[in-house]
Amino acid sequence: MKYDVAVVGAGFSAIAATINLLRLLPASSRIAVVGDDPGFGRGTAYRSEFYQHRLNVPAARMSIYPDQPEDFLDWLAEAGREVGGGDFASRSDFGLYLRDRLAALLRDRANRPRVDFIKSRAIGCIDISPSTTLIRLVDNDELAACHTILCLGVGTAPLPVPADAIAASIRTKIVDNPWRLGWLTQVGRDDRICMLGSGLTMVDQVLALRARGHRGTVDVLSRRGLVPHPHLDQPTPPVAPQLPDTTQLSALLQAIRHEVRQGAPWRSVLDGLRPQTQRLWQQLSVAQKGRFLRHALAWWTVHRHRLAPDVGREFQTLIDDGTVKVHAGYLQRIEASGAGALITYRSRGSAEMNRIGADWIVNCTGMERAGIRHSPLLQTMAQRGLLQGDPLGLGVVVDDRAHLVAADGRVHPHIFAVGALTAGRFWEITAVPDIRVQAQAVASEIAQAVSIGAAA
Ligand SMILES: Cc1cc2nc3c(=O)[nH]c(=O)nc-3n(C[C@H](O)[C@H](O)[C@H](O)COP(=O)(O)OP(=O)(O)OC[C@H]3O[C@@H](n4cnc5c(N)ncnc54)[C@H](O)[C@@H]3O)c2cc1C
Repeated sequence: MKYDVAVVGAGFSAIAATINLLRLLPASSRIAVVGDDPGFGRGTAYRSEFYQHRLNVPAARMSIYPDQPEDFLDWLAEAGREVGGGDFASRSDFGLYLRDRLAALLRDRANRPRVDFIKSRAIGCIDISPSTTLIRLVDNDELAACHTILCLGVGTAPLPVPADAIAASIRTKIVDNPWRLGWLTQVGRDDRICMLGSGLTMVDQVLALRARGHRGTVDVLSRRGLVPHPHLDQPTPPVAPQLPDTTQLSALLQAIRHEVRQGAPWRSVLDGLRPQTQRLWQQLSVAQKGRFLRHALAWWTVHRHRLAPDVGREFQTLIDDGTVKVHAGYLQRIEASGAGALITYRSRGSAEMNRIGADWIVNCTGMERAGIRHSPLLQTMAQRGLLQGDPLGLGVVVDDRAHLVAADGRVHPHIFAVGALTAGRFWEITAVPDIRVQAQAVASEIAQAVSIGAAA
């Protein structure tokens, strides 16, 4: 059977695309959703059951529908949660909200497209013709679709040292992907933990450890030793910064700093910048984007992706009482030491070598920025020239309507990417407020094409 649309993926991008397709496509059409995650729609972000794993965006901005901003707040009220628009709901509640909204649309069988949820993994693309994409699944099945939406997310970054710098005997004490939360159950109450990476994932993991009764020390190592800032209890309104008409990164950053020095709260300035971020990013040359990633990204991330205020307070208490120690430096090697590990790092800004002893090493370095390395599907497509990896490792090359671009520059009019895979083009496209807009636009374009085809 040939589907009108194949959605490949199982996280927020996939569920946002599917929900919009269900609302927009004619009832006669057929959708296949190929995902390998049991909790469809939750992905890494929204499958946590732990209450302190909270959204980092206020509830008022987390509706799945950009044109119905109150929808998540309505769900929270119906579910009896006392969460206001400026509050930070739990990520597990957001996962339940997504599930409920999908289920409600699926109930109306008579008036909606047919949807087949296929629990599998897409591993290759066999053919692309002007009217059909043929996708190979892991169990050797094939799937044909007129339109395809790739919602694959990006993988988890590997440890920031080569494999031969890690003693083989301690491999079992290294947690490569902390989002498989099972590792928490193996940690002893007084075990020493070393977290590599100091962003939101690290904070989540530290708080989950504490909630499970862990009382040992936690050393955190990252190149700059920067940790995320909290949101304020009483947020200040956005202030759109006055930016010069320039495509120079340094001039833009200077203008933003100037606005803050003039007295605007930095959170307001960053929030005010957000509607312009995609445009500003697109004006930069590849070299300037590379400079941003090398020199400014760590600062951007800790200011832009903030903690819920009470989560920030809880984490700060652990820093203040010495439970959590943050180190700035470069990981050199990981050796076995007794029953644990010895981590050697070079301090930032000096040649001094330091050591951290740990029973567990947890990779919290975050999202993979290696383009397509994490995905056999994307790799096989790239080998056949069907797509290009982004030159800076930020997903794949797409045009301004998220169509995939082939190696020879041709645009695939029927193949789209949604979410962080398109960060090379849009940059600010890794969180719900941006992905939902993109998912809706892609679904609308497909619905229009399907309706025209049906009428012809
Ligand atoms: C811990 C965490 C917390 C976050 N918190 C927030 C927040 O509070 N607010 C916010 O706006 N954003 C948040 N984000 C950002 C988040 O990335 C986005 O909101 C969103 O969840 C991204 O969804 P996605 O579907 O694009 O990617 P993912 O969630 O990574 O999902 C991709 C899915 O596709 C599946 N897949 C991949 N390849 C294939 C294949 N070949 N075949 C089949 N299936 C495949 C994967 O198994 C996975 O389930 C958070 C991210 C993380 C990691």
